[in-house]
Amino acid sequence: MLVSGLRSEVLFLASAATGDLVKRRAVGAYLGLAVGDALGATVEFMTPREIRADIGQHRDMTGGGWLKLRKGQVTDDTTMALALGDSILVAGKVCAHAAADAFSEWMRGKPVDIGHTVRRGIALYRQTGKPEMPENTFDAGNGSCMRALPVALATLGADEDAVDEANRCQAHITHNNPVSDAGTLCVLRMVQAALLGATKAELRLLTDHLIAAESAFRFDRRRTENPSAYIVDTLRAVFQALFATDSFESALIDVVNRGGDADTTGAILGMIAGALYGPTSIPTRWLRHLDPAIRDACRDQAQALLKGSPLCAATPIQAPMQ
Ligand SMILES: [Mg+2]
Repeated sequence: MLVSGLRSEVLFLASAATGDLVKRRAVGAYLGLAVGDALGATVEFMTPREIRADIGQHRDMTGGGWLKLRKGQVTDDTTMALALGDSILVAGKVCAHAAADAFSEWMRGKPVDIGHTVRRGIALYRQTGKPEMPENTFDAGNGSCMRALPVALATLGADEDAVDEANRCQAHITHNNPVSDAGTLCVLRMVQAALLGATKAELRLLTDHLIAAESAFRFDRRRTENPSAYIVDTLRAVFQALFATDSFESALIDVVNRGGDADTTGAILGMIAGALYGPTSIPTRWLRHLDPAIRDACRDQAQALLKGSPLCAATPIQAPMQ
């Protein structure tokens, strides 16, 4: 029901929720993304066994890791999301050319980290001016999912086809793959449902819908440890951690201690759990180490995107900039 009738569900929930609640959850999703990215980056490419031997349980912002980060420093997951969000705000919609230009500018700034598929997609755009990669069976990485949060906010209240189209529009700049599209769309729907007050059980229905279409995403069997950047592996770890825990903190600690692509599992878990549990659920010992410029950009962009969303245009909910 939550899937097939998402728009009617959205409007129903919107009438029940206050605008302030939705706005706070949107900020929670953005701060959750950044905190998850920064916490996970320390243990990226480590195995759970290595994490236990070196750190014990990884639960505090320490920086370091293979990228030698400052305490609380975010990586490409957060900075690409902010670049995508800025392009949506300037263009007034999710626009492939505007997003590709923003990604190109982002790459010119020599980001601390960049995935192979992302680099290749941006390089091709610079050569051809075409903001869409050809479909490729092997481009099922998590790089389009990690940066997708702005699309969830910008299309909140839009019909399902519009969310799907906006998702593919930004994703295909670097990743044109139906499995990646399906996984990312599920994450967008989970974030949108959580913003509007859905329970964790209702989010689980959205994963059921994904698994009915793509059975590879089934996550109720073997525990996923050391998850790779393959979208299926990444989301299995995220879903297992989300549904096995009852708080933002415990979910994020669960997923990053699985190691592997931990900054991105942390980022994706963080955006869903931040929307579900809200910004006050994010431990201040993590938030206070975020770069203030990143923290402010997350807060400002969340509110600006929400203000321009179909939800705010269709209902009396106001999400003014503060
Ligand atoms: Mg990263």
